[in-house]
Amino acid sequence: MNDAPRRLPPDMDRASAAMILGCQPRQVGFCVRCRGLTVRYGAHAKLICPWCHWKETATQKNGAKQD
Ligand SMILES: [Zn+2]
Repeated sequence: MNDAPRRLPPDMDRASAAMILGCQPRQVGFCVRCRGLTVRYGAHAKLICPWCHWKETATQKNGAKQD
């Protein structure tokens, strides 16, 4: 599978992260799971980043829960 969203490293600058995430730089914060950058504030706020969400979904699809 190559449709995985890319993980945004915590040291990435927020303006670039915001462009990728499609939000405002002030809405960018840390993923609670991998500490990567994600939309943490505002209307589309999420606790985990798209990459973690994708991993979770992919794992569920495979029926093999790993933790
Ligand atoms: Zn994450």
